[in-house]
Amino acid sequence: MWLRVTCRLVYAARVSSALVFAGNPLDRANHRRRDATWLAAQLASEASRFLPFWRLNVLVKAEKPELAWATHAICSAQDARTGAVFLGIRDQLAHFAIDLTPLHDPVTELGLAGSASFVELRAAAATLPASDSAIAAQGRQMLDWHARHRFCAVCGRATSVKEAGYMRECDECDAQHFPRTDPVVIMLVESGDRCLLGRQAGWPAQMYSALAGFVEAGESLEEAVRREVHEESGIAVGEVRYFKSQPWPFPSSLMIGCMARAESSEVTVDKSELEDARWFTRADILKSLAQPGAGGVFVPPPVAIAHHLIRAWAES
Ligand SMILES: [Zn+2]
Repeated sequence: MWLRVTCRLVYAARVSSALVFAGNPLDRANHRRRDATWLAAQLASEASRFLPFWRLNVLVKAEKPELAWATHAICSAQDARTGAVFLGIRDQLAHFAIDLTPLHDPVTELGLAGSASFVELRAAAATLPASDSAIAAQGRQMLDWHARHRFCAVCGRATSVKEAGYMRECDECDAQHFPRTDPVVIMLVESGDRCLLGRQAGWPAQMYSALAGFVEAGESLEEAVRREVHEESGIAVGEVRYFKSQPWPFPSSLMIGCMARAESSEVTVDKSELEDARWFTRADILKSLAQPGAGGVFVPPPVAIAHHLIRAWAES
């Protein structure tokens, strides 16, 4: 779940208790989404701000790590099948996300060379202000949903954008489709002075993290935690406590962090999901947090909620 290429970058970022991609400062102003007159005025206004994405990478300024907002003139280059997605209001200005994916080389075609570039969001989040990362997360998730839902899941015909980007309606059968968010439980299993971490094949050497998995249909969060932990490690879990949650727009997850108390200790790894899972002592985890790699383990960088789960347990 954590890309190899971003780990070193993100470790260099300041460690903060705030979760990356949370804390969006925009007022989402839901009541404006059906206000066609107001929306048309904002889309035409010189003052409105448009955040360009290309192939889901976000436009970032070259001279300093900030989002590069554009004016409405850029809308002529956007993907007309999506249109501008309303993100919210800040400082009395309307903010939108737009998709420039139809362009072959937007940096050249829009004359951006030297002033801004399109950056993968996990990498950009290492240096962007927290509020910018959160806004970009909202935009990325919405544009990705539009790109994947051009056609009706009921009848297969084309769909059209409604409600400023928050609904697509079928042109044929009128079925309505809404942006989805997929809940994922991510849990630190604890047993006294030990915690259970696992690793997937392909992760950087010695990288271990909290176990995680999608919540299934008809399942509570507590049930998902117990099922996932048992499936992946054979460990039985009793008490489950909520920790924090984190938007994870790759493409549409909500990471729901939990602490889970183990009621057994013998680990049986499901090799189809994990390469390894084992217990680590609090001392080893504290060493790794102080100096990545010490204690024989790397834990995920602060961009991931797993880092904060592990840190909160180790320092408790
Ligand atoms: Zn339909």
